[in-house]
This record gives sequence, C-alpha cells and structure tokens, in this order.
Amino acid sequence: MNDAFSIARDLIRCRSVTPADAGALGVLENVLKAAGFEVHRLTFSESGTADVDNLYARIGDEAPHITFAGHTDVVPPGDESIWSMGAFSGEVKDGFLYGRGAVDMKGGIACGVAAVLQYLADHGGKPREDGKGSISFLITGDEEGVSINGTVKLLQWAAARGEKFDHCVLGEPSNLEVLGDCIKIGRRGSQSGTLYVDGVQGHVAYPYRASNPVPDISRLIVALSDEPLDHGSAQFQASNLEFTSVDVGNPASNVIPGQARAKFNIRYNDNHTQDLLRKLLEERLAKATGNRIRARIVWEPSNSNVFVTKPGPFTELAVAAIEEVTGRRPELSTSGGTSDARFISHYCPVIEFGLVGQTMHQVDERTPVADLEKLTKIYRRVLERYFG
Ligand SMILES: [Zn+2]
Repeated sequence: MNDAFSIARDLIRCRSVTPADAGALGVLENVLKAAGFEVHRLTFSESGTADVDNLYARIGDEAPHITFAGHTDVVPPGDESIWSMGAFSGEVKDGFLYGRGAVDMKGGIACGVAAVLQYLADHGGKPREDGKGSISFLITGDEEGVSINGTVKLLQWAAARGEKFDHCVLGEPSNLEVLGDCIKIGRRGSQSGTLYVDGVQGHVAYPYRASNPVPDISRLIVALSDEPLDHGSAQFQASNLEFTSVDVGNPASNVIPGQARAKFNIRYNDNHTQDLLRKLLEERLAKATGNRIRARIVWEPSNSNVFVTKPGPFTELAVAAIEEVTGRRPELSTSGGTSDARFISHYCPVIEFGLVGQTMHQVDERTPVADLEKLTKIYRRVLERYFG
C-alpha cells in the first residue's frame, strides 16, 4: 500500500533507534523502486562511531530538481510500558497514529513519498511531461545521534557523482500547534565555549601571595555578556550569549583557587558568521582584561552555522500550497534548535515543513491520521506548482 498512513505505519514498526536501521530504509527502497526510482543504499563509517545506513533515490535526470530530505532514525522510546499503545506498534486510537517517529519524522517522510508516488502516477511516471525535472529522496539514519555518518556524507557522496539539487523540502515537524502554522526557513547558529581565567593559588590568610581569579571571572562574564551582540535581523531575533556554568573546582574554604572557568553558549543570527562571532568575543575579552588578567576562550568545534533561505518564489510556492490545503498562511520562522537543514543549506535553498511537533520525543508520540492526508495533499500541491 502506497498511501501515507500505510508507509508511516510500516516505518514505525521498524525499531530504528539511532544508529539502528531495523528495516526502515528497506520499506522506502521497495516502494520507490516499484515507482521507477534509481535507489542507492549507502553505509557510511568513521572510527569511533557506529556505521549508519542511508538512502538516496532519484527519478529523472534533468533540472529542475527538488529533493525531499529526512531521517528514519528515532530517539529511544523511554519506558515502553507507560505508552498507551506500543511505541513501535503503529496502532491507531481515536484517529491518532501512535508510535515513536509518528511526527519526528517517519510520518513526514511517508507523506512525501505518498505525494510523489501519486503525483507520478497522475503524470505518466515522469516529473514533467517534456521529460525534464527530477525528484529525489535524501534519507539518513543518523539525525538524532551524532550526525556524522548521515546527511553530511550523503550530500558529499551525491555532489561527487554530479548530483545538483535546486530546492529541498525537509519534512521535520515544523508546525507548532496546528498543521499549516509554520515553515522553518532557517536556524540560528550555535557556538559553545569556555572562558578560562588564571590566577595564583594560595592561602586565604595571605592573599598578597596569591591572585584570585573569582572576582576577575565575574567581571569578565559581565563584560562579555552585558552588551547585546546585535538587535536582530529581518528574519531572526537578536543573538544571545548565555553563561551556563561557573566553576573553580575548589572544595576548600581556606584556599584561593588557581583557575576559574565559565561555560557559555551563543545562539547567533545572520548578522554573524562563526569566525566573526569568535573574533567579536575575543576582542571584547581583550578589551576587558587589559594587560591585567590572564584569560582566554577555548571554542568548541561546531557544525551548527546560521543559515536562512530568504523569502522568495520557493517559499511563496510552499506558502501557497499550504494555504490552499489548510486555509492557513504559515509564519516563516527561524526559531528552534538545529536540524540537518544546516548541512543541506550549503547545497541548495531548503525549507522545513512537516507535521505538528507537539509530541515529538515524548511518550505517546502521535499524529492525527487526518494530518497525514493533509500533509500529503500539501506536498502534492508543492509538486504541481513546482513542475507546473
Ligand atoms: Zn527530526
């Protein structure tokens, strides 16, 4: 059965907790092959991480090329005995399909596949009557984990064999309350670091023989975070620096500690790049320390750069398709955490639109069956407008 509900249920019944595939990609491979897609199964490895299965499937070999991206891996179910329906049962109660991945994001993938299959069936098995146009699926099993053997490598593999993507729809659960309320068009970047301040350890009774880093780090924390990083941009709220921990690791009350550290995270918008942001903070630090305080920032590696797909014809096409099916005009948002869209954005404009995210990662994750039908219709309208 090639409808969204059946595909979603078949996917949910695979226990594909990252990094296990448990047959999930095979479900997609079967239906896509039957519809004429060229399907590639790819296992990527890296020492210190688990091997991960991925899938790339394409029909057509010319532009314009739209790709549906997603992940079939899911987060663990937690205590399965407290789920009202089995976490991997794919059962329906009161109009809801239950199971881990129902909204994040096996349901979204199922709608994408069902919409494409319906679309092809109605158009002689081709994206466009003139033989042009391509549709593909870029599916990883490594989104909820470390994200090393997934989308990044799949995109590199695709680029190496000459695949060019024009636009991407990532079916993550983008809606907040109701289907049609939100498209994600970008995400803030994320950068963590630790501020180290060196003093001189000593006896509290002889402070002139020591140098206490505690008052210094307190002043530096204020100096780094007092002034706003920016005041927002057209598509983003203001960037934010948040200190999350201050620590000297000192169990004694009669010892002045030798070092203090403070951890922080910055969520930043498109006023910055990762390099310029780091420079800005280092300049603030240098100004605040003068030649008096020995302090430095150690940056954590980060692959969460800021990105945004600027509103334009592609976002308008999606908005129109959503409005047509749901009667709602979605907000174009850049809120929330990171997703694989940050990697895809290096290759083509990407938007995220899927089911409603309310129950994602929770016990009793579920989606209204009616939403599966509506999302399939929306994707279908996206395809009609894209190739029409
Ligand atoms: Zn997800």
